[in-house]
Amino acid sequence: MSGTVDAVVIGAGPAGLASAVCLGRRGIKAVIFEKSGTVGAVWRRHYDRLHLHSDRWHSALPGLPMPATCDRYPSRDQVIEYFDSYAERFDLKPVFNACVEEIQRDGADWRVRIGATLWRARIVVVASGWADYPYSPTWPGIGTFGGRVLHSSVYRNPQPFRGQRVLVIGFGNSGGEIALDLAEAGIDVTLSVRGPVNIVPRDLLGVPILTWAIAQSWLPARLVDALNAPILRLAVGSIEKLGLTRAAKGPLQGIEEEDRVPFLDVGTLAQIRAGRIAVRGPIAKLAPNTVVFSRSAPEPFDAIILATGFRPDLRALLPNCKGVLSEAGKPLVSGRPTAQPGLYFCGALTSPTGQLREIGFEAVRIAQLASQNLVT
Ligand SMILES: Cc1cc2nc3c(=O)[nH]c(=O)nc-3n(C[C@H](O)[C@H](O)[C@H](O)COP(=O)(O)OP(=O)(O)OC[C@H]3O[C@@H](n4cnc5c(N)ncnc54)[C@H](O)[C@@H]3O)c2cc1C
Repeated sequence: MSGTVDAVVIGAGPAGLASAVCLGRRGIKAVIFEKSGTVGAVWRRHYDRLHLHSDRWHSALPGLPMPATCDRYPSRDQVIEYFDSYAERFDLKPVFNACVEEIQRDGADWRVRIGATLWRARIVVVASGWADYPYSPTWPGIGTFGGRVLHSSVYRNPQPFRGQRVLVIGFGNSGGEIALDLAEAGIDVTLSVRGPVNIVPRDLLGVPILTWAIAQSWLPARLVDALNAPILRLAVGSIEKLGLTRAAKGPLQGIEEEDRVPFLDVGTLAQIRAGRIAVRGPIAKLAPNTVVFSRSAPEPFDAIILATGFRPDLRALLPNCKGVLSEAGKPLVSGRPTAQPGLYFCGALTSPTGQLREIGFEAVRIAQLASQNLVT
């Protein structure tokens, strides 16, 4: 199969689905190519206990609210069901098992290659997410460790770790929540935290933290952080006694200036305080079944979970495409015009006011820009 269409959308995750719907509303016919066999494929692989950290009112895609039957913070299965119903509601029919390998400029159009097949389109929306780019740092001696080392993206539940000593490296949202999952299952778990952290509760005074962030989003991040600091200190409590260091920049400034998402606590701190999650500093090196910490004595572990994030690199997908990617291959903008007419990214950058919510806004903007692009 090959052909010419108005728009090609790459990926049938929330960003791809929302983009196709918004393009369709403007009369732009889009074909979605999805390398897996389902919509929302990445969510189907997330760990079992995962719930959205953003509330359901602020996590819906354009044109379809999340149903009232969903939890305040929908579970992974509810999110998947919602993506399925979204595709059904808007009659989206992605081409599955179609991995886009290369996008090249061809005059005013784009050539999109899927294996030996070529598609031509004036508009391309890259909504391929980050899941393909897990970042796994290395340490001296990692090859000698002997135990299981896995990235957080392949962690599902505590079952395989029963009776083991597990080290989770990284105190982002995945690391903190996986440590909580293991601790609640009675597994001996330690969290290695390399540097200062920002911790916020999921709800503040009974209101989702995201609602606070949205209400304050018109103010400069530094000012909001300063205003919120006293109440957040009260809500989170002292973390210094737990072996953690508070980041110098506040949560919003951290996102804006360093792309660092704060940790939204759903119970991890309570487990640390109760002594069911141990906290250690950074790692100096690994040895057979042992981790040597920089600031404390070596300890034996059976498994290591790398909750060390993702580093998207789209250079192979977009060769010869000047001005749209950083040197490391990360999109420079998302949901806005790029240096290349007709090429857009959706969902590519972190948002302080909820990624799914931002994806919705970006999809609407991309459709508007694309319709202008098609008439010129
Ligand atoms: C554990 C976790 C929890 C999160 N919780 C929240 C939350 O509570 N609230 C919130 O707002 N956000 C949350 N996010 C962030 C974000 O909303 C999700 O990651 C969201 O799924 C991103 O959507 P996406 O469509 O950009 O990417 P993805 O969901 O990753 O979808 C990308 C799709 O593109 C496909 N694809 C990739 N490359 C190609 C290719 N070359 N050709 C064809 N198809 C391709 C993939 O198979 C995939 O289906 C969370 C993220 C993670 C990892």
